Amino acid sequence: MNRETSKNLFERAQKFIPGGVNSPVRAFRAVGGSPVFIKSAKGPYVYDEDGNEYIELINSWGPMILGHAHELIQKAVSDAVQGSFSFGAPTRREVEIAELITSMMPSIEKVRMVNSGTEATMSAIRVARGFTGRDKIIKFEGCYHGHGDSFLIAAGSGAITHGAPDSPGVTKGVASDTLTAPYNDLNAVQQLVDANKGNVAALILEPVVGNMGCVLPEPGFLEGLRRICDEEGIVLIFDEVMTGFRLSKGGAQQRFGIIPDLTTMGKIIGGGMPVGAYGGKAEIMNWVSPLGPVYQAGTLSGNPIAMAAGLAMLTYLNEHPEVYTTLEASGEKLTNGFKNSIAKLGLDYTVNHIGSMFTLFFTNQTVTDFPSAKSSDLPAFGKYFHAMLDQGIYMGPSQFESMFLSTALEDQHINRIIEANEVALKASLN
Ligand code: PLP
Repeated sequence: MNRETSKNLFERAQKFIPGGVNSPVRAFRAVGGSPVFIKSAKGPYVYDEDGNEYIELINSWGPMILGHAHELIQKAVSDAVQGSFSFGAPTRREVEIAELITSMMPSIEKVRMVNSGTEATMSAIRVARGFTGRDKIIKFEGCYHGHGDSFLIAAGSGAITHGAPDSPGVTKGVASDTLTAPYNDLNAVQQLVDANKGNVAALILEPVVGNMGCVLPEPGFLEGLRRICDEEGIVLIFDEVMTGFRLSKGGAQQRFGIIPDLTTMGKIIGGGMPVGAYGGKAEIMNWVSPLGPVYQAGTLSGNPIAMAAGLAMLTYLNEHPEVYTTLEASGEKLTNGFKNSIAKLGLDYTVNHIGSMFTLFFTNQTVTDFPSAKSSDLPAFGKYFHAMLDQGIYMGPSQFESMFLSTALEDQHINRIIEANEVALKASLN
């Protein structure tokens, strides 16, 4: 497969953009080689600058749940563009999207729109701190909540991929207010809470992790966290930037039946445009400015074009529950195919999967937390990744990412992915 144009663009990019990319996970550092420069995408396919076609398993890291360039969203955006790009004033669409989000997400009574998942999580812990009058937060090793200073402690996603789970530039003061526990370890959380009695404002987690690869909460884990938070007056924050509107219409909280106090959102709610949101119990959200004293603002927040894309996306998801049955079936079929090939080749790898999220871990350990995710054979993953890419399957260039399916994938695409997977698994052994 010829990727000369991508290579040339990457050489130019490296001169003027740090690492040649505007977000670290896009670089191919963990797997070697140079990134593919994407020119366009439609439905289940992305096309690179050299004209190669790939079947999509990244889907912009989650937002494109209906596949690329869905007609409804395209139309909503092009209609909105006619009315200008930004006003910095309230609009009808912001009211409509707030009504829709609060009706779809079980726990949300009030919601504030921001511009990214990072802004959502930063703002959510600020309001949790304001509301409780406490400073410390608890997060889990390997969970990623964007690049806010408080979260770059034992962080997942690009931070693990590039070996920097703790970032320079985060002050010791900020770092000391973030406590970390192993995922799925309730005892560790209880110990942290006991050792910091009355000082923990919030506990934030990905209710299903996507950012150390796909890792599921063990039975009782989310319930246990809810109980501890209730006992200690801690604000429980579900970071549903990945899982929201993906694992069900009402996200992981609906799927697992656990009601957090606050929820952070992003990705799908913008339909591919830069959007984030945070929301939850009115008694907490009433602390947000201008109603309350916790300041949070944004020139482009609730941007009319982004709201149009998000509204079109959420309206569609709200009115088409079959989206989720399709995604469940695709996820089942694809991961069963992967497991069959793994068994057929006499390998012992782990496939974690829920709905339309999955990761094939190159380890024989059950992956339930950060150490077990890190037991994966990364050089083997690198060979596998390139073998998939060369067969026209576009996956995340890191072992520590979840893949995301879209409704644009048909049986023929899933079959092609399963076949390519078997070839790539063989290639990873050499
Ligand atoms: N939270 C989670 C769970 C995420 O997966 C991400 C990004 O991948 C973020 C927060 C940050 O979102 P953004 O990249 O839009 O800032």
